[in-house]
Amino acid sequence: MLIDQYNRVHNYLRISLTDNCNLRCFYCMPEEDYEFTKQASLMQADEIESLAKTFVRLGVNKIRLTGGEPLVRKDAADIILRLSKLPVKLTLTTNGTRLHEFVDLLEEAGVRSLNVSLDTLQAATFQHLTRRDQFQKVMDNIQLLINRNFHVKVNVVVMKGLNDGEINDFIAWTKDTPVHVRFIEFMPFSGNQWTSNQVFTWQQILQVVEQQYSFLPLKNEEHDTAKGYIVPGHTGTFSVISTMSAPFCSSCNRMRLTADGKMKNCLFAEKEMDLLAALRSGEDVTELIKQNIAAKAKELGGQFTADFEHINAETIHNRSMIGIGG
Ligand code: SAM
Ligand code: SF4
Repeated sequence: MLIDQYNRVHNYLRISLTDNCNLRCFYCMPEEDYEFTKQASLMQADEIESLAKTFVRLGVNKIRLTGGEPLVRKDAADIILRLSKLPVKLTLTTNGTRLHEFVDLLEEAGVRSLNVSLDTLQAATFQHLTRRDQFQKVMDNIQLLINRNFHVKVNVVVMKGLNDGEINDFIAWTKDTPVHVRFIEFMPFSGNQWTSNQVFTWQQILQVVEQQYSFLPLKNEEHDTAKGYIVPGHTGTFSVISTMSAPFCSSCNRMRLTADGKMKNCLFAEKEMDLLAALRSGEDVTELIKQNIAAKAKELGGQFTADFEHINAETIHNRSMIGIGG
């Protein structure tokens, strides 16, 4: 088992399949031109499988594929099928644009729950945030997943002045649609123009919902990063993820593998462990994984505190979100 010095058991691995993407969300990609990682530097399908198996031997029982956009990778189907054979709960975070091509495969692979990112219910705002005209495709694909009985979580990054006015539109959507909306506080990453005054906190989100709806808390699972709620009578639910104003590091069970095979013990960790180079040179990867977990900081990668109003994003050393894998 992978237990760190704060007694946290790590059984959840998030694997980025690529840092490439067919959307251009400004909060995820750096402002300057971003060069996608070259094919040869990416973990290959057999290397992903091999590293995943090592993590499973060390106690991992949940794997999430992410990116960039995991479904733009040419061999995504092969990777999904390989990982589906492992004794883990396999899931995926996607921008939803390619789900229609993958829905049969996801069913075959036993994936039952997916996170789809959608920050707005308005086509024009979608175009503004992502710089691509794919709103209807994403909406259609969410409906397709619902029709096929997948559990659909919708990730909404809430940003002041951009989409905070749509919070109750999302709640209204949950009335007759079985979607589980997750409002996420805007986080700082390299090059994403983050400033604290753009953060719309979970308390502010709940205040907005309160103006129109009464709601009840849901029972949270042990490692849930989201605090869940339901409006009585609604088919779907909503939750808030308070990484910036109330981080949940004390129960963290997550590890990350970037598309170029570097292990990160925290989303905000500066130091990375190069597992891919070790694997390619025949080194003992297990030892490196253990070392990386032993070095995990108590909270937020040891780079800042929950006093987010005073963070200077320039002083945080990290990759862009698209290069980490969200
Ligand atoms: N392309 C896929 C997608 O968009 O779902 C997977 C990768 S994306 C990096 C994973 C998640 O990170 C998305 O839900 C996205 O909204 C979220 N994300 C990206 N940048 C963020 C930021 N600065 N703050 C909060 N969430 C962010
Ligand atoms: Fe692509 Fe997802 Fe990042 Fe948007 S959030 S640019 S869809 S990886």
